[in-house]
Amino acid sequence: MTEVVLDQLTRRYGGDTAVNALSLNVPSGELVALLGPSGCGKSTTLRMIAGLLPATSGEISFDGERMTSVPAERRGAVMMFQNHRLFPHMTVAENVGFGLRMRREDRSTIRRKVGEMLARVDLTGYENRRPDQLSGGQAQRVALARALVVGPRVLLLDEPLSNLDANLRHEMRLLIRRVHDELGITTLFVTHDQSEAVIVADRIALLFGGNLQQYAPPRDFFRRPANESTARFFGCDNFLPGVRRGAQVETAAGVLHIDPSLPGNDGDVLVTVRPEAIRLPGPDQGCENHVPAEVTESIYQGVNTELIVQIGGASWRVLAGPECALRPGERIDVSLPIGQIWVI
Ligand code: ADP
Ligand code: MG
Repeated sequence: MTEVVLDQLTRRYGGDTAVNALSLNVPSGELVALLGPSGCGKSTTLRMIAGLLPATSGEISFDGERMTSVPAERRGAVMMFQNHRLFPHMTVAENVGFGLRMRREDRSTIRRKVGEMLARVDLTGYENRRPDQLSGGQAQRVALARALVVGPRVLLLDEPLSNLDANLRHEMRLLIRRVHDELGITTLFVTHDQSEAVIVADRIALLFGGNLQQYAPPRDFFRRPANESTARFFGCDNFLPGVRRGAQVETAAGVLHIDPSLPGNDGDVLVTVRPEAIRLPGPDQGCENHVPAEVTESIYQGVNTELIVQIGGASWRVLAGPECALRPGERIDVSLPIGQIWVI
């Protein structure tokens, strides 16, 4: 197992900075997602770790060993791309065993390792198929088996699921997670899809424009987003400006009580509460913040109802149950539970 450390890793193209002084510590055996919108520097980061692209400055190390000037083939990192290419003229077993044949391992060892790896990706019995006889998901699993069979120190996956349809993508996420848990290979997984990162990863590194926004377990991006854009990327657009004094924030919607242990200083803040954490009028649930709101939209979505409400001059999204009968124009009190309020 291998710990991967990036220290002030930077890549410029001409005058443009694709990755800006990125420092990350990927603990041995963890699965870390590099997340962010298209063009934020995810692939550039992965390619530098793989040794396919030189860094402009900064350091990459595996288990304390500096990798920055070690050639790709001696790093022990394997990379799997979105548009993986299986060798079309080889069978599944030959594709998976390719790296082992290059290393001149003996035939019985190769057969055993290939069989074990195909079993891990649920493809036992497909040894003699050709790539054109596989579905997209099966081909992707062969590509994963081919990457893993050589026993890499580090597995690098660049948007491996973005060409698959939604159902298959979900199956593959769970498979990648399961195989990772079984083998414990330190893995960096690039995706632009926040729900994918949440499902697959132990930790997420969120990048915007080559700059790290937050590096934390998935839960923190919902409960404790580092800044407004991070909260928005994770589906929370509810913000209300206010002035914090200890355990209170004065806002246009009144004084809100907050958990005094929340980090940050007194002064100007943005109060935020996730749409699913806001409560509608009903039996008192012991929340201390009742805030007047006016419903401006009500959108029935089957599993729930999305309300747009005006709170202190700001437009907030609230997720209510499917049976919610509130209509535009109604004035209500919403509850913002103290434990659910975060300030930025
Ligand atoms: P992502 O994988 O997050 O979509 P990339 O790492 O591919 O983003 O790209 C990051 C930035 O670097 C983008 O602005 C992209 O246009 C730029 N970039 C990537 N490769 C090159 C290149 N070979 N030459 C110039 N600019 C590049
Ligand atoms: Mg990319």
